[in-house]
Amino acid sequence: MAKKKEEGNCSFCGRPKSETKILVSGIDSQICNFCIDQANVILKEETSGSFDGPEDRSTLPKPVEIKTFLDNYVIGQEDAKKVLSVSVYNHYKRIYQESDKNDVEIEKSNIILVGETGTGKTLLAKTISRMLHVPFAIADATVLTEAGYVGEDVESILTRLLQSADYNVAAAEKGIIFIDEIDKIARKSDNPSITRDVSGEGVQQALLKLLEGTAVNVPPQGGRKHPEQKMISVNTKNILFIAGGAFHGIDRIIASRLRTNVVGYSFSGINDDKIDQRNLLQYIAPSDLKNFGLIPEIVGRLPVLSYLEPLDKKALKRILSEPKNALTKQFEKLFSMDDIELIFDDNALDFVVDKSSEFKLGARGLRSIIESILVDAMFELPSKTRTKKLHITRKYAEEKFGTASIAKLKAAV
Ligand code: ADP
Repeated sequence: MAKKKEEGNCSFCGRPKSETKILVSGIDSQICNFCIDQANVILKEETSGSFDGPEDRSTLPKPVEIKTFLDNYVIGQEDAKKVLSVSVYNHYKRIYQESDKNDVEIEKSNIILVGETGTGKTLLAKTISRMLHVPFAIADATVLTEAGYVGEDVESILTRLLQSADYNVAAAEKGIIFIDEIDKIARKSDNPSITRDVSGEGVQQALLKLLEGTAVNVPPQGGRKHPEQKMISVNTKNILFIAGGAFHGIDRIIASRLRTNVVGYSFSGINDDKIDQRNLLQYIAPSDLKNFGLIPEIVGRLPVLSYLEPLDKKALKRILSEPKNALTKQFEKLFSMDDIELIFDDNALDFVVDKSSEFKLGARGLRSIIESILVDAMFELPSKTRTKKLHITRKYAEEKFGTASIAKLKAAV
């Protein structure tokens, strides 16, 4: 039987009074200063989740620090990283500004990233939220429809953010939402077969309110709103929206604007012979987004515009091994948990990169290709206690990849 605690001991950790700074007595128990501190930590964690975020301006990381953090996870994309670091910094400065009626009001700086799929748009947004410890949600613009149509209301985006914040409304209200495939809700006015623009302009109008900053009643479990449902009010005023899209064909719009400018008045200040024709996205301007089919109000509410470069083979190879959680590092860790040392030859990595580009899978394909090369080893080796090392040569990679179904790979990305 447990020994009855002597009087003068902490009822939680059992420390005698002499070992504590203070022992607070309750009705029939005591608590020491150590346990009070511990309880405080627990209380803080429970009430704010892990989303403490930057508490005030003094703890807010500076743009250079944000960029350095991004460098650990995102290869290349220097322009986007710089623009993003500055606008995220400004966004949180705006949240923490002292409220002064006569002061200049800083407007929200939502961001739009344009670049091919698999170039790191989502990764950038996700990495920033991880750095700042703020809730993060990804919304797919293609599933959003106007209220009344089959699909999801735009409020569902906020449900997701609330869920990722463990329903801590205050944390969610300072979170980050990534809206993927924003280009898919562009106006399709040039398509005469569409009589009812379900996925286009109506959704843009509905999104507009969220981007501007407004109090929205959100169904906590998602789904359609209905009258009996209990709603949670979420204000989007301080939520940072980052939109992303591939905007296929926008390079033609950019090219034609640049050509007109160069021939005409040269507003862009770029000489025709200096234009890098392979990567026209770097010259993107808000007017191109409008011409693509985003309504001017949406473009105005996403004032920070940046682009992502297509990833060449050199970048893909760096992605395989350089980021903090690079794929090769992840697999090395998985194998090491079975006490197996996994080593990749440099030219085996070249092979992975070649295949990913060959099948036009980009960075998204890298993982599936490595999986297909390693699947046999991952299946067999944990049962073979004597194998302590696996050396992936180019020959090994070619052989294993040869037996994998490309169709399966394509389906996986
Ligand atoms: P997007 O949102 O542009 O379609 P993602 O950010 O989802 O692309 O990228 C898909 C995956 O490819 C990421 O999870 C990451 O593993 C890898 N990836 C893409 N671009 C980069 C990059 N620039 N640096 C590091 N990894 C990248």
